[in-house]
Order: sequence, then structure tokens, then C-alpha cells
Amino acid sequence: MYKSQKIALDANNKQRNWFAQQCGYARFAYNHALADFKSALAKDNFLSASELNKRFNVAKKEYAWTKSQDQVVANKSIFGNLASSISHWVSKRSHFPKFKHRGSKQSFTTNSQTVEVKGKKIKLPKIGWVNLFESLRFEGEIVEVTISRTAHRWFVSLIIDIGTPEQVDKQSTSPVVGIDVGINALATLDTGTKYENPRPLKRYERKLRRTQRSLSRKVVKSKNWFKQKAKVARLHYSIACIRQDAHHKASTDITKQAGAICIETLKITNMLKNRKLAKALSDSALGGFLSKLKTKAETLGIPFIEADQFYASSKTCSSCGHKKSDLTLSERTYHCSRCDVSIDRDVNAAINLRNLAAGHAESLNACG
Ligand SMILES: [Zn+2]
Repeated sequence: MYKSQKIALDANNKQRNWFAQQCGYARFAYNHALADFKSALAKDNFLSASELNKRFNVAKKEYAWTKSQDQVVANKSIFGNLASSISHWVSKRSHFPKFKHRGSKQSFTTNSQTVEVKGKKIKLPKIGWVNLFESLRFEGEIVEVTISRTAHRWFVSLIIDIGTPEQVDKQSTSPVVGIDVGINALATLDTGTKYENPRPLKRYERKLRRTQRSLSRKVVKSKNWFKQKAKVARLHYSIACIRQDAHHKASTDITKQAGAICIETLKITNMLKNRKLAKALSDSALGGFLSKLKTKAETLGIPFIEADQFYASSKTCSSCGHKKSDLTLSERTYHCSRCDVSIDRDVNAAINLRNLAAGHAESLNACG
């Protein structure tokens, strides 16, 4: 089984320069090989990845500066990135690959075989030991190493082969958890526990608007424009970090206590059509949260049940099963006209989902 972890690098100036250079080298190799591929294709000659790589290894001798670079970076750029872009094009899953320009995402993949991690340090080819902001959470063989940049920060993404993990049988010992996912609270459990939704865009909206306005007043590609652009990128990065942090904390906490998880199926694209909701929805990035929850549940072997999208988890009374014909979004408390119960709207929905999943498990047991 493979696990991945992305760790921020605490790199010094020399190391940052080296990373930027390798991104440039990866881009150079990619573009050179793509140009080669294109001109051969014009003569009805389809070059394979290994042919492209071989030709690049010959062609690079013309450029003296390539000698001091990490050669694996160029090979991985051709074998990995370019080859997959070409195969996507061949299978008609995407357009013909484009040349990479300076503003493209900066990243490169290097040789994983010589990479070592010790505590909060990583040994990378050619550049040596680089400090990490956190240590590696997994033990096993490192099979892929990619370095990339987001805003002002460099990261290393590691894929580790952890072998076959022992699955703990949580199903029989831990309860089924029903979760209502939403905007007001990121997640509400049937037990009443709520996980807050930080909505960072709302918090940074004014600052972001101000920074972006200032960028639009600068002369494009001037020195000040690049400086301001970096500021905008940094703000977007902070916003993403706050979101990710909340998502990870909530999903880890939930999967720790659950034996099975039941959520409602959200039609996010449909919900985005509601203009009043769209902004708050994009800001909470529920899709990202759900995929984290799902992945974590899968790794732990916890069943992840998605209720039918027409299942009325919000409109149904969790104590008597009465179904309301109408429930507006502003009604935060569910009041049942039949059994006279009053309960928090999200908790009511979460209980319904838990009951649904419990029934689902019982019927499975009855069948099998
Ligand atoms: Zn009722």
C-alpha cells in the first residue's frame, strides 16, 4: 500500500535557487523533447518516450549548463510528465501537449533511490540535506520524490510503500456515525458534535480584494507587478492552508471514533447554481473535505456509505419518522408537528443518516 505526504521545506537561499534551477531544467527537457516529438510527428514518425529521452541525452551536450544539473530530473520530466501528456492526447482524453512557460507550475521529480529522511531532515540528490518543517509519518521505502513550489514556499511530496498494513476491526467495536455536511458547520455528528467551518475567504475577502486591485494598477511584468503578484499568491495560499487544516483535523477525528460512516450525497454542482449559496459553498470546499474523509475511512477499512441523493435526511423527523413537505434553509431548528420534538436541524439530519446506515448494515447481515 502506498501513502503520500507533502512536507514544507525549510530551505536556505542556496537550496531555493537549486530547486528553481531544477524546475527550469525539467521544463527545458520537457519543451525540448516536445519540440522533437512534434517535428518527428510532422514527418509521420511517432517517437516513444525512451527514444525521446535518448535523443535528449544526445542533444543536451550542446548546452554546457545542463552538465551541472540533476540528470534524473530531465529524464523523469520526459518519461513521466511528457509521456503521460502524450498518452492522454493519444487516447483522446486531452488536447495535444503544450509547451511549458515560465509561469507554469514549478515542480520536478528526482531520483528516489538515494533519498533519505532522518527526523526533520531530508537528503536530496546533488544538494544534500535540507531541513523539513515536520517529520515523515510513515515508515517504508520511498518510491517517488517530487519538489514543488506554492506561493513563497517549497514542498517535497513523498510516496512511500508501507507494505500491507494490519486492518483493525473497528466495525464491531465502534459506532456507526451519521454526518451532516454543510456550510454553517463543516460537519455535524449524530452525537451532536460539531466541527467548525472556518470559511477563510470570508475572513480574507477585503484584504484579497485590496491586494488584487493594487496588482491590477501595476504595469504588467514590471518588478513591482511581480512583487504584488507574489503577495496575492501568498494570500491564496494562506486561505487554502486554513481550509486544509480544518478539513484534516475534522476528518481524522471522525475516522478515529467511527466504525462506519454515513453521509448524504451532495450534488455540489447543483448547489452552486444557487447564487446566494455559491460563494459560501466554494469557500467551504466541501468536496475536498469529503474526499479526505473518504480516503481516511478507506485506509482504516471503515465502510463509507453515501445515502441516496433523494433521501430526505433534513426533512424527516429523527424520532418519529414524520416527513415535512417543506423546510427552508433559514430554519435552524427542526420542530416536528406530529411528536412535538425540537432538535437542531443538522443533528436531526445526522441521526437520520446514522439510522439509515445502521439499517443498511443489518440488512447486509441478514442477507449474508
Ligand atoms: Zn416527530
